[in-house]
Amino acid sequence: MLGSWEPIVTPKLWSQVQFEWERRRQKAGIKPGEAGTAPVNKYFLSGILRCNKCQRGLVGHRYRRKSGKVVHNYVCPPSERGGCGGTAIAAPTSDAAVEEAMSAFLRKQLHASKAGFNQSAETITALQARLDQELARKSELIHRCSEGPCARPS
Ligand SMILES: [Zn+2]
Repeated sequence: MLGSWEPIVTPKLWSQVQFEWERRRQKAGIKPGEAGTAPVNKYFLSGILRCNKCQRGLVGHRYRRKSGKVVHNYVCPPSERGGCGGTAIAAPTSDAAVEEAMSAFLRKQLHASKAGFNQSAETITALQARLDQELARKSELIHRCSEGPCARPS
């Protein structure tokens, strides 16, 4: 349903983004119907984050600790499902970091579109390249944080 508030991105751009994410999930080895592939889900980075050891797309995974606390992670699937099983990162940390990057990115685009920015196909390709860079940078930071004391980039 379309709202009446001022759009941040056009519906056309939004559907292209959705399509792009679905394409990346499939490219990352996530089959349609596999947990975490719905466009709206708790693990919105499933198939977007990559394992730094085998490059397989990480998938959302929840488990309950002995204490009863439920933990949400992105994990590399076991070898029988195409991964190496060697990577797990905390989902809330990853989601927050990427959400922050995304909203900063969208704010910038909103600002640019108000200045008469044209969302042409070429522009969208350029935006995707920049988004790739942003995501790569973020996931590198996340990996660094998940491997030890969180070092700030200098
Ligand atoms: Zn892996």
